[in-house]
Amino acid sequence: MLGGSVLWFRHGLRLHDNPSLHSALEETSGPFFPIFIFDGETAGTKVVGYNRMRYLLEALDDLDKQFKKYGGRLLLVKGKPSAVFRRLWEEFGIRKLCFEQDCEPVWRPRDESVKTACREIGVTCREHVSHTLWEPDTVIKANGGIPPLTYQMFLHTVATIGDPPRPVDNAKLRGIKFGTLPLCFYEEFTVYDKVPNPEDLGVFLENEDIRMIRWVGGETAALKQMQHRLAVEYETFCRGSYLPTHGSPDLLGPPISLSPALRFGCLSVRKFYWSLQDLFQQVHQGSLCSTQYITGQLIWREYFYTMSVNNPHYGQMTDNPICLDIPWKSPEGDELERWASGRTGFPFVDAAMRQLRLEGWLHHAVRNTVASFLTRGTLWLSWEHGLAHFLKYLLDADWSVCAGNWMWVSSSAFEALLDSGECACPVRLGQRLDPSGEYVRRYVPELARVPTEYIYEPWKAPLDVQERANCIIGKDYPAPVVNHIVAAQRNRNAMEELRMLLEKAPPHCCPSSEDEIRQFMWLNE
Ligand code: FAD
Ligand code: MG
Repeated sequence: MLGGSVLWFRHGLRLHDNPSLHSALEETSGPFFPIFIFDGETAGTKVVGYNRMRYLLEALDDLDKQFKKYGGRLLLVKGKPSAVFRRLWEEFGIRKLCFEQDCEPVWRPRDESVKTACREIGVTCREHVSHTLWEPDTVIKANGGIPPLTYQMFLHTVATIGDPPRPVDNAKLRGIKFGTLPLCFYEEFTVYDKVPNPEDLGVFLENEDIRMIRWVGGETAALKQMQHRLAVEYETFCRGSYLPTHGSPDLLGPPISLSPALRFGCLSVRKFYWSLQDLFQQVHQGSLCSTQYITGQLIWREYFYTMSVNNPHYGQMTDNPICLDIPWKSPEGDELERWASGRTGFPFVDAAMRQLRLEGWLHHAVRNTVASFLTRGTLWLSWEHGLAHFLKYLLDADWSVCAGNWMWVSSSAFEALLDSGECACPVRLGQRLDPSGEYVRRYVPELARVPTEYIYEPWKAPLDVQERANCIIGKDYPAPVVNHIVAAQRNRNAMEELRMLLEKAPPHCCPSSEDEIRQFMWLNE
């Protein structure tokens, strides 16, 4: 028996700021086995579109290439994690298994079965917190055993805990002896000698691959993206401002978002957080106090994670204690399918829904628009439909964060009931965010020649204008799925009634102030 250790990658697909890597390398009794296991669910692979699968595989390829520089490789096995580890123990007598905490309750059965297997065979199992700034359980304990109900309460609670830890140093991989899998593994499991394609894993392109924005997965790309993002933050700080993605959302340029990299852990959230705080300090030299605002978006992420940790029903309405029971209607005809495929007849919504399928990423303001369109704004359908669709197609799809945002936007949790008409009108918001309609023309080519004055309401264009634009409404591009003004009024009334009922209801998650609502919805005009 040789001994040795295993680093089990799930999320956390990076070498920097990786406490689990350090921990695995402390065990020097035998070889080191870095491994990713395709078990049909890890890293969000249960329901996954082509773009996210490709992003994940690129991230694995990047790790593999990095290990190869040190004479090793990333092991890629298809199987059940507990079975794979048991066999590694039988073959090599591995002594230690390390992994980064996946705090969401959806992963608990997987992790429990691995922890149990380790206990049975006497392998030390170490779980390290590095996907979040603060360990959700610590936050819950500091708040007296329940998650802080509002964002402000969350800020207050983490302030009592103190700053999040700084990233750990890079681990030294030179001289490490990497393990290789014996032949019997190739017989018992599917072992990939190089990173597979999505097709090898049964995930296929749905349409032609005509992405205009190409996201690249992996730590190497993520670290470069962060440098680019920091340059943008630097300019913003120098102007005396912060949160560059909010001020004037750029729907067309290459995004400066790091959300897919943060979701897969190609970039450490702690590295990003501290880079921002340090940069702010460097720019203002203490003359301006660095507030939570500059990293406030990252705190939403923490908040939603913490809220879900002990709530396995967080992604659904039934049995979900924080979700208000809004009487959504069942989808009628093809309205849900029209929303999902970008054929609602509302150009701004359709552009977004097509961008989602094509590229896998949407601006927050745009996510708000399509989410409120599906739910309390227009169609009055349950946010659960939206969550399912987003979880398949978003590159940064994240069960807790996505469900949390869907509950927020649909007024199902976290916030007082908003005036639905005011929030995200599919016409006015488009006009405000992209007055020339270029975003629509890019993703909805049927509308490319529609004059700007009609680009968000093409059904209002006179027939001769439609003819000249080569776009007859009802034939080349759909007529609106509903009259959104009538629908918004009806929904506002329904929300008003619910609000009255709620005033008598026990306290629930809600925003701390008007200001917080405006900040979340980016209503800072
Ligand atoms: P920035 O504003 O630059 O924020 C920096 C980081 O903070 C983001 O990368 C992200 O990790 C985090 N963050 C920002 N906004 C939020 C937020 N509202 N909630 C939680 N974390 C946030 N984000 C996801 O990462 N995964 C999801 O599955 C997801 N689903 C969403 C669903 C809906 C209906 C809505 C309205 C929003 C959703 N978001 C989700 C939040 C948000 O839209 C994205 O995180 C954001 O657009 C990423 O862009 P950015 O990196 O430029 O954000
Ligand atoms: Mg980002």
